[in-house]
Amino acid sequence: MQLIDIGANLTHDSFDPDRDAVLQRARDAGVVQMVVTGASREHSPLALKLARQHPGELFATAGVHPHHASEYTRECDEEMRALHAHSEVVAVGECGLDYFRDFSPRPSQRRAFELQLQIAAETKKPLFLHQRDAHADFMAMMRNFEGRVGPAVVHCFTGTREELFDYLDQDWHIGITGWLCDERRGRHLRELVKHIPANRLMIETDAPYLLPRTVKPAPSHRRNEPFYLAHIVKELARDRGEDITVTSANSTAAARAFFRLP
Ligand SMILES: [Zn+2]
Repeated sequence: MQLIDIGANLTHDSFDPDRDAVLQRARDAGVVQMVVTGASREHSPLALKLARQHPGELFATAGVHPHHASEYTRECDEEMRALHAHSEVVAVGECGLDYFRDFSPRPSQRRAFELQLQIAAETKKPLFLHQRDAHADFMAMMRNFEGRVGPAVVHCFTGTREELFDYLDQDWHIGITGWLCDERRGRHLRELVKHIPANRLMIETDAPYLLPRTVKPAPSHRRNEPFYLAHIVKELARDRGEDITVTSANSTAAARAFFRLP
């Protein structure tokens, strides 16, 4: 089984004490490549640095998450553009809108998103998108760039049926995390994942967040890591009524094509 984790926040401080061991556990579980999420001005360069230390295995995105949108200054935009000059940076993002937490004011979120969509339009790199409770504005902003940006993935999809079908109608890809395994808030995903075409379905841990709640026995820690991708794909395959080897192979092929990985 070969798996690709398309979203792992491996620059997170919680991995500082044992990052090499985390990577080794992932390899042992069949995770052959990982895309390290760059989600802030501070961490996007660190994601590139980490990717460069593991050529062919780790790749990076560069972007500013809507939570950090307030830091998206002109200098920050230049920094993001400089990062995108590197081939290890395979996608623009994480970027998008998050009206659930509103950690940055909504006008700043829209501005930061718009500037990053501009980078995607110029570089033609795929988009790694985040959307929470902002569907209408998100769709409107994406529509403004229709035909100008490359492929897009709505990462960590947790939304409604209507949102899912809006994304699929746009030909976008969907990233599924261990949110699927959350019996409190992810139950609806169990049915929805059946509707995602195999060539547009990718898997991710979003580590260190979203430790799958169905891991048995429940770990004593709360930290998620790419190793648990094997658990997520098992749950996903069951929900789709597929053999795990099929779901694994298809999601890996989809991720390689989407991020243009070797
Ligand atoms: Zn996100």
